[in-house]
Amino acid sequence: MYKRYSQLKKLNSDFLILGAGIIGLNVAKAIYRTYPKAIVRIIEKEHSPGLHASGRNSGVIHAGIYYSTDSMKAKFCREGNRAMTQYCKDNHLDFNNCGKFIVASNEREYQELYSIYKQGIENGIDIQLMSRTEAMKREPLLRGYGEEVIWSPSTSVANPRQVIKCLSNEIREKYGKYCSQFYNTEILKLEKSNQKDCIEVASKDFLFESKYLINCTGQQALGISKKFLFSNFYNMLPVKGNYLISDMNCSDYVKTLVYPVPMKDAHFLGVHSTITPTGHIKVGPSATPAFGIENYNKLEKVKPNDLFGTIGKYASLLFSSQAGMVTSLAFQELPKLSKNKMLESVRKIHDVPPCNYSWYPPGIRSQLYDVRTKKFLSDFRLEYDGFSMHVLNTVSPGWTCSSPFADHIVSKISKVFRLDN
Ligand SMILES: Cc1cc2nc3c(=O)[nH]c(=O)nc-3n(C[C@H](O)[C@H](O)[C@H](O)COP(=O)(O)OP(=O)(O)OC[C@H]3O[C@@H](n4cnc5c(N)ncnc54)[C@H](O)[C@@H]3O)c2cc1C
Repeated sequence: MYKRYSQLKKLNSDFLILGAGIIGLNVAKAIYRTYPKAIVRIIEKEHSPGLHASGRNSGVIHAGIYYSTDSMKAKFCREGNRAMTQYCKDNHLDFNNCGKFIVASNEREYQELYSIYKQGIENGIDIQLMSRTEAMKREPLLRGYGEEVIWSPSTSVANPRQVIKCLSNEIREKYGKYCSQFYNTEILKLEKSNQKDCIEVASKDFLFESKYLINCTGQQALGISKKFLFSNFYNMLPVKGNYLISDMNCSDYVKTLVYPVPMKDAHFLGVHSTITPTGHIKVGPSATPAFGIENYNKLEKVKPNDLFGTIGKYASLLFSSQAGMVTSLAFQELPKLSKNKMLESVRKIHDVPPCNYSWYPPGIRSQLYDVRTKKFLSDFRLEYDGFSMHVLNTVSPGWTCSSPFADHIVSKISKVFRLDN
């Protein structure tokens, strides 16, 4: 039984953040760097933070190599690499500065490797071309094609679930007087009240009234932004990333991360091998269609509308200028639903040890595309006005970027919204 509006407990705030993922929690911290006494409330529909993309990713603290120099991804990844590294060290979290190789597996990719190298150098990233012989001294199981590979010494790995838990606790400890986190809180109604000049959000027990709303709901962010009449020209293609994990610690055999040369225009980095901070090998993520925004397993959480909607989106891309990319994605990625094919694919660049591998919780990328051009958006996207900010297309490397990106979000808000207190 739902209570009537008038029976709900009313909670006022200056900022209401939707979503306790890595972006939402970092935005809360960033708010206190600008507005030390702001009242902030964070609403999360799950029972704890980071149960979606922020806890279901590769845990790689990226260097910022691939992204075009003028993008938010390039800028915030470079800064975010330093920030996330420092955060893990300051809080004694699992962390391994293992570095990463990028390796071609055929002649076409080998030519592309040099474009990636050039992009990384343009972005000001510390990377080098290394001879295969030199590289194999560090990583004897390295495979692939060509005389040279790219070495990125500042790439590291951490444990995403540990990081987000630490962040949520830190916010509670440092800003608990002004900031509260509401878990298991599903939104039943969400609207801008012109009468009261604020945003109203109703849950089962509370009526949140806030001067400003920040939508950091990852996979759900596009739908919420549309309720505020933003994002008219965007649609989301849910793309699932499956992982395999080794059942034993392999740190005696594998020391670094090994990435392929990514498929052009696909915006996915390709199936790679990572070594977790505990020494297990993680292989993935693949890039296969998901039939719903949170469809992690088989047909779980798929409504008939989602199913037909997603099939329609893939079909429309197949009849666009993106057809080539979508078809090669299908041919290359769908077979990786099989364990053997996934391992076969990574072994072209890294001959990971032959231990037992089992499926690990997959993640879903909140990849947006422009319905007019049918092209994937390559950068993060912010849509906002004086009442609400919507953080969209938070695909990789959003986890690495989260702290400086959050500062940027708050600085954009401060230009359109004035908090008088
Ligand atoms: C397979 C995969 C691998 C990746 N690997 C890497 C990597 O190695 N390195 C890297 O830097 N990045 C990586 N990324 C990207 C990174 O994980 C994301 O950029 C980042 O986690 C996005 O964070 P977020 O806070 O925007 O979204 P999320 O983590 O999805 O958080 C959104 C939160 O909002 C909540 N929510 C949704 N709807 C509502 C609602 N209506 N009301 C209340 N709460 C709601 C959700 O429950 C969730 O907790 C990867 C992503 C994927 C999918």
